[in-house]
Amino acid sequence: MKVFQELAEMGHERVLLCSNPDVGLKAIIAVHSTVLGPGLGGLRMWPFESFDEALTDVLRLSRGMTYKAASAGLNLGGGKAVIIGDSKTDKSEALFRSFGRFVDSLGGLYITAEDVGSDMEDMELIHTETQWVTGVSPAHGGSGDPSIVTAWGVLQGMKAAVKWHFDDVSLKNRSVAIQGLGSVGYHLAKQLYKEGAKLFGTDIDAAAIESVSSEVEIEIVGTDEIVEVDCDILAPCALGATLNEESIPKLRCKIVAGAANNQLEDEHRDGAALQERGILYAPDYVINAGGLINVYNELGGDYQRDRAVRMTRGIYLNLMGVFEIAREYGLPTAVAAEKLAERRIETVKKLGSRHWGRFIRPNGHR
Ligand code: NAD
Repeated sequence: MKVFQELAEMGHERVLLCSNPDVGLKAIIAVHSTVLGPGLGGLRMWPFESFDEALTDVLRLSRGMTYKAASAGLNLGGGKAVIIGDSKTDKSEALFRSFGRFVDSLGGLYITAEDVGSDMEDMELIHTETQWVTGVSPAHGGSGDPSIVTAWGVLQGMKAAVKWHFDDVSLKNRSVAIQGLGSVGYHLAKQLYKEGAKLFGTDIDAAAIESVSSEVEIEIVGTDEIVEVDCDILAPCALGATLNEESIPKLRCKIVAGAANNQLEDEHRDGAALQERGILYAPDYVINAGGLINVYNELGGDYQRDRAVRMTRGIYLNLMGVFEIAREYGLPTAVAAEKLAERRIETVKKLGSRHWGRFIRPNGHR
């Protein structure tokens, strides 16, 4: 009964438990909302220690996707899936094909994509069983690695934040500290360097540091020091929850704008703490929507990177809208972003039964 109460509180429409012991599949697909469109969200493969842990994760993540899609102005709802297993040892063709059949059984209410523990090759196995999958290889007409578009979106978001906070239209000579120089951090560092920004960076992986340092001028600092760098912008691009009761008092930046998901350990507490310190926070799901915009462009089967990049520019205006609402009502930006997304969903909900099936088509890749 606790599960039903949780679903009711979080507002999920549907949760599918997927079991196929013959291939070792234990998965959960959560569709949070299909008000604006089908629930699109990645497939996470992770060795969860319990069913409850997996369920909590998929419910939280699918709800987050609803807000991300709504904020980005996309005709998408929120969904997410988890496979309980170790991505290093438990992957097989049959596992992903079996998962693909479960996705197909939802008839387009849920569209899957890559996430932690799953990659383009897994998406292609899923694609043998369903067309409701994005993030397949460009060789099959898909959009491939989204991180360059995500980084471009973060750059647009930084420009909006700099305009709002400093009334400046350029990132030239702005100092930016990048926490995590992986896929997105790497592209972001290169794009910022081109804009004339002064860079600081950190990573736990020496190879990631080396790859960025060999292409741009960047001052590398320790992983614990990055939040204390005296800079204009801190860009969290590693894991979630790096902004919390311990780190926020140490920050010496004016703006937080980065790609990582779930940057605030506690959305409301930490959002308010940043506001109190006068630090402008670009809500994570608004600024990092470039990856979602990229796979959205795969639907219908005629993916064009140029179009995805152009749509990603919209993040600038989306963030400006969040900052305006925050100022008007004296809210933390994290709360303002939530309100804006909810306003869009509620307005469309009033229209009654859904009609998006007419314009959302599966990817049609071969
Ligand atoms: P990634 O795994 O390629 O890079 C993350 C990097 O962070 C790695 O190099 C890792 O070594 C480093 N790291 C881990 N812990 C660290 C620590 N404590 N201090 C410093 N560095 C640390 O992942 P990515 O694709 O670049 O994504 C980065 C973040 O952005 C993630 O939170 C992801 O969920 C989010 N995101 C990514 C995309 C995308 O298109 N890839 C889209 C939206 C959101």
